[in-house]
Amino acid sequence: MTTIIDGNSVAEEIQAGVEDCVETLSAADETPGLATVLMSDDGASATYVSMKQRTCEELGINSFHHEIDPEAPAEELFSKIDELNDDPDVHGILVQMPVPDHVDKRTVLNRIDPMKDVDGFHPENVGRLVAGNARYKPCTPHGVQKILDAYDIETEGADAVVVGRSDIVGKPMANLLIQRDDGGNATTTVCHSRTKDLAAKTRNADLVVVAAGVPEMVDGDMIGEGATVIDVGINRVDADTEKGYELIGDVDFESAKQKAGAITPVPGGVGPLTIAMLMYNTAKAASLQSGVEIDLP
Ligand code: NAD
Repeated sequence: MTTIIDGNSVAEEIQAGVEDCVETLSAADETPGLATVLMSDDGASATYVSMKQRTCEELGINSFHHEIDPEAPAEELFSKIDELNDDPDVHGILVQMPVPDHVDKRTVLNRIDPMKDVDGFHPENVGRLVAGNARYKPCTPHGVQKILDAYDIETEGADAVVVGRSDIVGKPMANLLIQRDDGGNATTTVCHSRTKDLAAKTRNADLVVVAAGVPEMVDGDMIGEGATVIDVGINRVDADTEKGYELIGDVDFESAKQKAGAITPVPGGVGPLTIAMLMYNTAKAASLQSGVEIDLP
């Protein structure tokens, strides 16, 4: 029997725990605040930002939204970040990626106060993660750890393969899996677009995490019997639906399900965890900045 992982229920449980933290903070006059900044015309980016705002509202987190014209000079975004860095009501800052080509992404990440960097992408926070002393774990890989924990899937001693080496998913996922810590201690291989014979690597793995952005590239033939398959991919493909598209993962769910011991669907797998862990990091940011102690889930 293959376990179909229910990301929504794992996310709901975490959000309930975060809501308790928000209550504790609010009772001490330190209601967490998340600022979102959108500098894009892209519909998907706008949807992601509004989902984050909506979840803030549900959990009692203040949300402050700012939009910058995608044609505006980069300096306009930088000065908005400076303003948010100085605003005591804002504990977390999220600049929705991607930013336009004329804006240097690295400058954006470096400009955010590392204490308010709830995405965990500032070099200081990346360094802390690698050193095993994370302040804010990046939301998507942290969410994957929470899924594995919720389903009692042991990482210690497991052979893990991460497909993808991006700064936001692949690299931090691998870093979390190798830490000498709960949810870590895995023997981890990182595969990418130049990897030779990917199937030989994934087939031998106990745990496969796929974050490549290539629709259904990993199928059942590439999965070992009983392995755990975590599909991070979210790909919009044209379809005969009301919206004109559907979301599919990087894993061919139907064939991989025949082999896997446990597998995440798309949608309803990793996606809901990304937002839940952003809320978690925002509550943590408010706690670190105010000194009010909370009991994070
Ligand atoms: P990215 O494009 O930055 O990185 C993709 C990585 O995959 C690269 O490192 C590349 O080397 C590797 N890759 C590409 N083709 C490959 C191939 N054929 N074989 C092996 N490796 C290959 O993407 P990203 O930002 O890491 O996102 C990956 C996917 O995850 C996307 O579909 C994205 O939409 C999704 N995503 C989902 C969430 C979520 O909340 N579930 C969050 C972030 C990203």
